[in-house]
Order: sequence, then C-alpha cells, then structure tokens
Amino acid sequence: MRPFEVYDTLSRSTRRFQPITPPKVGMFVCGLTPYDDAHIGHGRFAVVFDMVARALRRWGYRVFYVQNVTNVEDKVIRRGAELGVDPLKLSDRYFRAWRDAMDRLGVLSVNYYPHATDYLPEILEQVRTLVDRGRAYASEGSVYYSVAGFPAYGELSGQRTEALRPGARLELDASKRAPEDFVLWKAATPGEPSWESPWGPGRPGWHIEDTAITVRLLGARYDIHGGGVDLKFPHHEAEIAQAEGATGQSPLVNYWMHNGMLTLHGEKMAKSVGNVVGLAETLDAFGPEVLRFFYLNAHYRSPLDFVAGKSLEEAREAFATLAKPAEAIRVAFGRAGETGTAALPDGLRREGEALVERLDATLAEDFRTREAIALLFSWGRSVGPWLERLDELGSADLAILAAPYDWATEVLGFPSGPPAATDVGPVVEAALAARARARARGDFAEADRIREDLTAAGVAVEDRGGSTRWSAPRRPPS
Ligand SMILES: [Zn+2]
Ligand SMILES: [Zn+2]
Repeated sequence: MRPFEVYDTLSRSTRRFQPITPPKVGMFVCGLTPYDDAHIGHGRFAVVFDMVARALRRWGYRVFYVQNVTNVEDKVIRRGAELGVDPLKLSDRYFRAWRDAMDRLGVLSVNYYPHATDYLPEILEQVRTLVDRGRAYASEGSVYYSVAGFPAYGELSGQRTEALRPGARLELDASKRAPEDFVLWKAATPGEPSWESPWGPGRPGWHIEDTAITVRLLGARYDIHGGGVDLKFPHHEAEIAQAEGATGQSPLVNYWMHNGMLTLHGEKMAKSVGNVVGLAETLDAFGPEVLRFFYLNAHYRSPLDFVAGKSLEEAREAFATLAKPAEAIRVAFGRAGETGTAALPDGLRREGEALVERLDATLAEDFRTREAIALLFSWGRSVGPWLERLDELGSADLAILAAPYDWATEVLGFPSGPPAATDVGPVVEAALAARARARARGDFAEADRIREDLTAAGVAVEDRGGSTRWSAPRRPPS
C-alpha cells in the first residue's frame, strides 16, 4: 500500500492516511436525492470520489465504496405531489437516469448504492437506541435528537445552529425542545409514504439513513466519508451526533473529505436558484472525457466556476492537446512489432519510467489532480518529436511512451481512446489495453493488478488463445 496524505475537515489538517483494518478501506459518500434531472454540480462529487477510489485501489487498498440514495425526502415527496407521481417511483426513475449518467461518465468505482427505504429496520433500530440512551426524545409522533446532550456538535463545521448561517431562517417548531434539535423520525402526513414505528407511522429524517447504513455496512467507525462542502452543516454534524450517540464509539469517521462547490458564473448551482446545467445534456454535447477533464483539472477542494459557452469549450481544446499523443501512441502500439527500426533515447525512456512514479506521488499529496494533469501535458511535449516516428518503434518503447497515459486512464478516467460500442466499453477496453502494454514492458505485477481491479469491479476477464474477452460488470444489488 502506497502511503498518502489527505486533508481531513474535522482536524483541519492534512494527515497521513492510516486505515482502520488495512488493506481494507470503508468509504461512504453522500449520494443523490433523486427528484429531478442531475446537473453538472452532481457530476463533480461523483467524479472526484471516483478518482479517489481509483487511486486508492491502484495503491493497493481494498476499497469498499458505498454511495447512498436518499429516495424518500421532502423534495422527493413535494415533486411527486406536483407531478401526481408516487414519490418512490419518481426517485426510482431519477436514480436510473443517474446510474446511466454514471456509466457514461466512467464512474464504475461504487460498489453499492443502498436506498434509504431498504434500511428501515436499521433506521428504526438506531432511532430506538438513541431514545433508549437519552440522546433523543419523541414528541407528537416524531423523534428528535437532543443536540444539547452532544457537546461535540459543531466541531466539524465550526457552527452549532442554523441561526449562525447567514440568511438562514430557523424553523419554529413547537414540538422540538430546542431549535437546533433535528428530526430523526418524522410523523406521517396524510398522502405521504410512511412506515410503522414504535412512535406511530412516519418516515426517516434526512440524516439518519447515512448512519443506519454505515453502521450496518462499514461498522461503528470507518475510514472515509466524502461529500460536498455544503453538507458539512447540518448533515454531517448530525451524522456524527447520531452514530457516536448510538454506538458510544468515536470517531465515526477518520477522514472527512469535502469537495468544493461547482458554481455557475459565481453562484451556487441549484434547482431553487434556477441556474442549473443538466448533466445528461452536457455529456451529450461534450462527452465524458472532456467533462472529467474539466472537473479534475482543478483541485477537488477548490471552488470550480462554470462559465457557459467558455469552460467546457476551453476544456475540450485542452483535452484534445492532451489526448492526441496518447491516441497516436496507442494506435501505433496496436500494430507494432516486438522490435523497431529505431529506439527511444535513454533520457526519454528514463523520464517516462520516472513519470508514473511522479504522478502517483503527486496524487498522494491530497489528490493534486491539476498538477498531475500538468505533468501529462509536459510529457506530451517531451514525446512530441516522436509522434511522426512512432511506426519506427517496437512495442516495448511504445509501452513506455503510453505508460503515463495508461496511468491517467486508470486513475483520472481519461484519455480512454476511440469510443467503443457500449457505454462501459471504453473504460474496460482501455484497462485491458493498458494491461497488454504492461505485459509488453514486462510489468506483470501491474498487468495482474489491472485484471484484479476489473474483477473487483465485476468485469470478468478471460484470456483465451492469445485474445482477451470480457463481460460487462454485474450491477450491485439495489
Ligand atoms: Zn453522510
Ligand atoms: Zn448524506
């Protein structure tokens, strides 16, 4: 396992990563509340944490990546009522669209997408435990968490009540003991989906599903929780209070990772603001690789501003510069013989061999993808003079030229080369091609590792009579 450092929001410091049970890494990321079409802000968190999972797996960690689906929530219910559609059917439809977008984006790293409504027994059990331990109280059919009893509330975000947030209006609710108390279980309202509970029919609050799911799947304590920086308060504060209050174990999460917001012309992108750019349309117009390039050509913690008619056009141009040598090298590799009529100079060969290590080292410092991309551009300039002469090189030399691009395809998800027929095809084909090149340069450990990663992602790989076949990944249970 390669050591790496990651910025942890709770300790406000960059820390050396230490898994609880090496080499296993439990990773949970706040997923979608599917009630409408996803926008490109959602795509950012998905691609950022996909990159993190890909890098960790490359470095030898066995990542179990869980991304939840908040399929019952105020927004889902409200939209369902507006459209006259059952809210659970509505969220199902938008979740399927999300999975399609994820397949197109090459986000194949998520092991499991648990839906809130599939974890009602765990949710009810956690709420009951919190009531039994005096952390929560029932009132008028709802159950609230008593924030006063959890002094650490506010440590993650540096704020304790919604009132501290500029522009926030504190919801006045007579059934709560204190304004900052948050709901764990919400009494049923006629016409809304509800489930039986010891406190009467109702539905889960927003925060409880995360901790009911993670305690069940990842344990009372786990390694990484990711999500947008806007979720720190109150959502992630509530999670810490719930889980630590219920299990008595601390800390719930060893590394809190928060990605910066994607803004549109400087404003937060949100349905409620009315300034959203759709994810599916953007994928149609620019393709997955340009979009991934746009997201990852900024540090994941930085805000990223999207300017219509400019950002993706610039990304497309820059990406083309990066991808051109990669594609030429891969095409040449496909038809090259073992030996060529020319050989790479030692200096360039050494640069190529050292570059993959530099790329890993760059990402190992809190995932500096922008700097890694800059290294790829500089490699493109180094190999530039050879692009006209690729047919003179043998496969071992071409594999050295391709290695930094193979690294990028594995970790960043681009460049994956010419598109294949199926959605997941380009990603799998690119991984298999990288495996062939690893074999060509004699790196059999790397070749085996790529195969293992594909197997872990549910892709069956079979070598038969000199050719390699694969079958599509099995979807995780949902
Ligand atoms: Zn969460
Ligand atoms: Zn969440």
